Amino acid sequence: MRRLNVILLVLFLLIAVPYYWLLLDNRPGSGPAKPIRIADLRALADAMPGPRPGVMDGEVAAYRSLPRNLFAAGAGLKREPIAVLAWQLHAADGSSVVIDSGIAAQDATAMGMTKINPEGQARIERALRSAKLVLFTHEHPDHQGAALRMAGGLPAGARLNPGQLPQAELAAKLPWQAGAAPVANLSAAAPQAVAPGVVVIPAPASHTPGSQLIYVRMADGQEVLFTGDIATLRHSWQDLRARSHLVTQFMAPENRAEVYAWLKTIRQLKQEAPGLHVVPGHDITSLYPMLGHAPIARNQFRFELQH
Ligand SMILES: [Zn+2]
Repeated sequence: MRRLNVILLVLFLLIAVPYYWLLLDNRPGSGPAKPIRIADLRALADAMPGPRPGVMDGEVAAYRSLPRNLFAAGAGLKREPIAVLAWQLHAADGSSVVIDSGIAAQDATAMGMTKINPEGQARIERALRSAKLVLFTHEHPDHQGAALRMAGGLPAGARLNPGQLPQAELAAKLPWQAGAAPVANLSAAAPQAVAPGVVVIPAPASHTPGSQLIYVRMADGQEVLFTGDIATLRHSWQDLRARSHLVTQFMAPENRAEVYAWLKTIRQLKQEAPGLHVVPGHDITSLYPMLGHAPIARNQFRFELQH
């Protein structure tokens, strides 16, 4: 009997310890939030003259369903739609800012997306071409890849920080003319205004080398924070949950301590500005409360932000 107990204990440890570490471990560490205050972001958003964005459109380019634990360790085994999203912000002068680029068909297949939306992706690519400014939350294929792969090269409005330049192996496969490779034309040194109402908040060496948050102060004063995959889901920032070790050790490495510091920063900003709309990298569910009405079409949304 005693021997059986020992065997059961060993079996338990062999299964439970790796399971805990791979999927549940969510120790956030003691690193502090970044010293970024909502008042600083508001001042930067107001620094550039011109109309701030008045309308915000969103598009679902593709999605798949996966257990929450993968992207928010310890949030449960319930499956969650992981959507590939892109955003277009329209100002009253007819100009627009696009955030992220959806996903190219070959990357959607490689990433195991079960539903893809080619019409939506075509709309995103038209928006990328016409945008005054194109920003990326980070350099992964489901955020930046489709812009890199566009025939004719990167959209004219694209701005990349040094960590977002494609690595040589990827760059060699892209449909660019000789000499057309992009240069870094966006600093990753400190929060900066890039358009009226639009502020880039560099978060280098966190989820990825080129990660950044994007803060927008709309024409009517509403505030939106695009987190990229520092917060993949609402649980990431609301409950302070990084990605699981299963994902970060074997699929998409990240600097976990820095990710936690930024998740704390997002919470701090939300505390300072309770009306702030936080837009996680892949969380379609958390966006429904921001919709003013039914989708324009399947997977295509216009957000009427609620005060
Ligand atoms: Zn992503």
